[in-house]
Amino acid sequence: MSGGGGAPRLPTHVDDLYVGGRWVTSSSAQRLEVVDPATGEAWGSAPQASPTDVDAAARAARVAFDDGPWPRLAPAERARVLERVASEVEGLAEQIATTTTRENGSPVAETAGAAANAAGILRHVASLAPHLEADDVRPFPDATRESVVRRDPVGVCALVAPWNFPINLVVTKLAPALLAGCTVVIKPAETTPLSIRHVVEACAAAGVPDGVVNLVTGDGRVGHALVTHPAVDKIAFTGSTGVGRRIAAACGERLRPVTLELGGKSSAVILPDADLDAVAHVLLRSCLRNTGQTCYVATRILAPASRHDEVVDMVVRTVRSAPQGDPSDPATVFGPVANRSQYESVRRMLATASGEGARAVLGGGVLDRPGYWIEPTVLVDVARGSTVAREEVFGPVVTIQPYSDVDDAVALANDTAYGLGGIVFSSDADRAQAVAERLDTGSVGVNFFASNHAAPFGGRRDSGLGVEYGVEGLHQYLTFKSIHRVRSR
Ligand code: NAP
Ligand code: MG
Repeated sequence: MSGGGGAPRLPTHVDDLYVGGRWVTSSSAQRLEVVDPATGEAWGSAPQASPTDVDAAARAARVAFDDGPWPRLAPAERARVLERVASEVEGLAEQIATTTTRENGSPVAETAGAAANAAGILRHVASLAPHLEADDVRPFPDATRESVVRRDPVGVCALVAPWNFPINLVVTKLAPALLAGCTVVIKPAETTPLSIRHVVEACAAAGVPDGVVNLVTGDGRVGHALVTHPAVDKIAFTGSTGVGRRIAAACGERLRPVTLELGGKSSAVILPDADLDAVAHVLLRSCLRNTGQTCYVATRILAPASRHDEVVDMVVRTVRSAPQGDPSDPATVFGPVANRSQYESVRRMLATASGEGARAVLGGGVLDRPGYWIEPTVLVDVARGSTVAREEVFGPVVTIQPYSDVDDAVALANDTAYGLGGIVFSSDADRAQAVAERLDTGSVGVNFFASNHAAPFGGRRDSGLGVEYGVEGLHQYLTFKSIHRVRSR
């Protein structure tokens, strides 16, 4: 069905959803159009699932959880299935890269690694199985009695994902949900409904039992129907802060657990002793990854006032040297932005920034060609407290702001409602770490930024609730039960 040679099968126009272990035709006549953001041309389509479709998927996941084998397997057996899913996903690397790049315009330099990254997450999570199997017996203070602490799967999980990393941001949820023994319904973004089908195929080929993984496609209404469905026990969401608040409110009403990975406005604090060549070396990856459409990127560059102009020169030189163009060309660094709505949103932000006094020393406009092309942009003269200094842009735009001393840099970095990522650059790692500890954010890098599958990743304040990755991420798919008993001797 998938993997292991044969001509790559790429989804284009599809009319089915994955429910109960089968591709079933949607009961809806409504379609989502899939547009190549590099050209603006529609090339594919997928169902806008009906309420009946969502209900069928949620019920299939419910039945698989309540009556199926998956939650009852030993964690080590589920881990073996996860390892097979990892191998199947690797076998689909080319299909995943091609479909994703056509859906969201992420350069192939990025999407070519998506399958390997997903496989890495799946294997890391599989390695956590012993954590679920360990006998956890805790004595009462009098030592005559004890409690067995069970880690049970939380149940049916709705996995709702955005368009920027359509594979990774599902797999970060899918892998721990599956290891825990949960069943899931996936709802990808409306503009990227196709690439995730490769992962669903990989799960089927790896022998994930019917009903454990289900897929519905559609817009925010489909997402709403799913997250409020009575069969759903837990919601894992990545996306905007606005939609995250609405989902949290719905979960509050139903008293269901929710993890939210939301927006960010992270800073790159360049300390006075930083080596700017070393900063330049990681700048594109750390501050503008995926044409700036990465939640944790440090798009706010804070420079010591004494080195401001030097930093501006370095950033402009580095960004200018990175090719923008056809995302299917492996040399491309900047592609288009992913969809029309994001294109309009970035343009509005650039107009607001300029209205508030910011000045583009590079870019600032759009490319005169079909598709959704924004010039890689470097803004200076950014007023403190202005919109572009505090709000997420989610496009190829960085700002540079001067600071007077380290306290000022920390205050500036923390002057936002978000708290997701951040980087501190210094030639003295201890000095950098001391500053990193003062940033009010869920993750921060010293001289680079990357997330580590073994370490928790999550946001503070408006950047979210809960974490993904690490054993802490696995806990989000568990519910704890204490069984108290008299000690046998
Ligand atoms: P979005 O509009 O919030 O959408 C995210 C997902 O939620 C999509 O599948 C969306 O469907 C669905 N949705 C929309 N309304 C819903 C509702 N009322 N109930 C349930 N689901 C609903 O976000 P986006 O524009 O796709 O993604 C960009 C945002 O994601 C940025 O703010 C970015 O920072 C954030 N992000 C965060 C992380 C992180 O890990 N912290 C990672 C990546 C991205 P539609 O596609 O149909 O709208
Ligand atoms: Mg949306």
